[in-house]
Formats: sequence, structure tokens, C-alpha cells
Amino acid sequence: MAPILQIEAAKKSYDDIQALDGVGFSVAAKEVVALLGPNGAGKSTLIRCITTLERLDSGNIRVNEVDVEKDPRAAREHLGYAGQESALDKVLTGLEFLRFQGGLVHLPKHEIVDRGRHLLERFGLTDAADRAIEGYSGGMKRRLDLAAAMMHRPKLLILDEPSSGLDYEARRELWQMLLELREEGTALLLATHDFEEADVLADRAVLMSHGKVAGVDTPDALRSGLGSWILSGMLHEHRVDGDRERLRDLFTEVPGVEMPPAPKSSEFAKAITPGREDIDGRPWSEWLRQHAQEKGVELVSVGMRRPTLQDAYLAATQSTVEVVV
Ligand code: ADP
Repeated sequence: MAPILQIEAAKKSYDDIQALDGVGFSVAAKEVVALLGPNGAGKSTLIRCITTLERLDSGNIRVNEVDVEKDPRAAREHLGYAGQESALDKVLTGLEFLRFQGGLVHLPKHEIVDRGRHLLERFGLTDAADRAIEGYSGGMKRRLDLAAAMMHRPKLLILDEPSSGLDYEARRELWQMLLELREEGTALLLATHDFEEADVLADRAVLMSHGKVAGVDTPDALRSGLGSWILSGMLHEHRVDGDRERLRDLFTEVPGVEMPPAPKSSEFAKAITPGREDIDGRPWSEWLRQHAQEKGVELVSVGMRRPTLQDAYLAATQSTVEVVV
């Protein structure tokens, strides 16, 4: 089956900023793909190009096999979009807003109200259908936005930072609804800088950095690609001159991928090469503790932890940007 979204060698620049630098990946029918990266990675630019609001400089985007630049109108019929900035008109009621939206996407008049009511029910908004949107909570507004994006039954739903600004409960509720949409047959592409969100929702994650794709895989495969353990050692805050260099030297003996340090961090870390988790039958953590002591390097902590999706992102992009939410 052809992918519902196919992106090939997409490039786009603004003056001297290369916002997209050869992006390529696909989204299969009924798949959830997270576009993961910090601010400035190029996610919004890509979404604007997919949703036909902007044109690529070169490359190709097809939605359900329709080239978005050759036939933007046909492409738009296959996709729904719910952005960060809610487009909701505050004076309208929930149902009025969906009726308005139904008109915009050219649904037949007789279908609009039924479809609107169905979606209000679907997203838990029936009781609020006739209330003005300005009285809705953040979570309700986000759900109404989803309902609006689903009015014309798109095969692909594109979401930009779907849960930003929502409290924990509303976030969980929204995630549940997104997973249900997937179960019902909608493919989702969601741009996020939230690793937990990507981990919970995504079948596959596209790791974006500086307009490029640094990796595409399932969250599990991305994590396990780093190995089973990350070894870390953190210097004492009152470290003496040369400690940093001595610790770095010690780490060169550990086989694995160096983890980029967080800004201002005094922690060194390496994802240990699979199959080489110990040295002479001892874990690397013991080895590090002993050798640091012998060299007079004071460590406040030595740790072995399981790699996270964030670690996979940092290792793949060697990014030093703080991407923690
Ligand atoms: P993200 O959505 O991942 O935060 P963006 O796509 O917004 O990333 O931005 C990618 C890069 O392109 C950034 O360096 C940003 O400043 C630049 N950029 C995005 N849109 C414009 C624009 N309209 N004009 C100039 N530069 C832009």
C-alpha cells in the first residue's frame, strides 16, 4: 500500500537559513509518526509545506499520492491540520464552529450538522455544544480543534505541538483520543519537542535537527540502537583544575558513543557498545569509580542507566541544545 505521506529530498531556505535541508521520510496509513526536534529544527516549515501553505525550493511531497504543489486542493482533501495557535472563533458555540468549518471544507450541507454532532460526541464535547467557545478550558479547545480538523474525514491528521500548554490530565486525555483516532484508521504526523509525547504516541519518530533528518525508527529501536546502558560520571562542583580533562581521558577508554553534554553540565556520559558492557567481568561503573579515585578525580556520582528517547536524539544529532521540556 502506498504511504499516505511521502516526502523526498525536501529543501527550503529563507535567505541564508536552510530551514529544510534534504528531508525525506514517509508515513504509512494508520501510522503515528512524531517529528521530533527542538525549536528551529524545521518542523513548522515542513508542516507548512505539507499543508500547501508554502512551496519547497526543491524536492517532493505527496499526500495519498497527490503532489501537494501540482494539486494543492486535492492534497488538502486528504489532510487535516490542528495547529498550536487555536483558530477557534471565541464568540461561536462549539457546534457553530464545526458548521462553519464544515462549510470551509465543502461538506454537503445536509451532512454538516450530523457530522458536527458526531464529532462533538466523539471528543467528549456534547454537553458544551451550544456554549460559547470562550468559556471552554484549554483541553476542550484543543479537542474542538481536533474535531474541526476531522470534519472532512482526512486520512492524515497533522498536529503541531498538540499538547503544549495543557495540564497533565488534559494531556493524557488528548493522547488517548489521538490513539483512538489512529485505531479508527487515521494516520497522524505530530510535530513535538516533547520526548514523552513521542514515546507514548509514535509508532516511529523522525529525529530532526537543523533541517535534516538524523534518524527514523520506532522509539524502541532508536533507544536500543544506543545499547543497553549509558555510563555517566559527574564531577564534584568544587572540582580542581584538570579534573574535567582527566575524566574525559578516562572516558576515552570506555567503548561507545559519546553523549553530548548538556550546557554547563559537569557530567560525562557514553552509551556503551553492545556486548562490551563490562571490563574483565566488572561493570564499567566500578571501573570508572576506581580509576577516578586513583587519579584523584572526585566524582559526586557514577551511574549506569537505560537509554531514553532523548538520549537517542542527542546521540544521533550530537545536539547540545537543551531539549528537555
Ligand atoms: P521548528 O518548527 O522546528 O521550531 P521552524 O521550521 O519554525 O522550526 O524554523 C526552522 C528555521 O527556519 C529556523 O532557523 C527559523 O528561524 C527559520 N524560519 C522559519 N520560518 C521562517 C520565515 N518565515 N522567515 C525566515 N526564517 C524562517
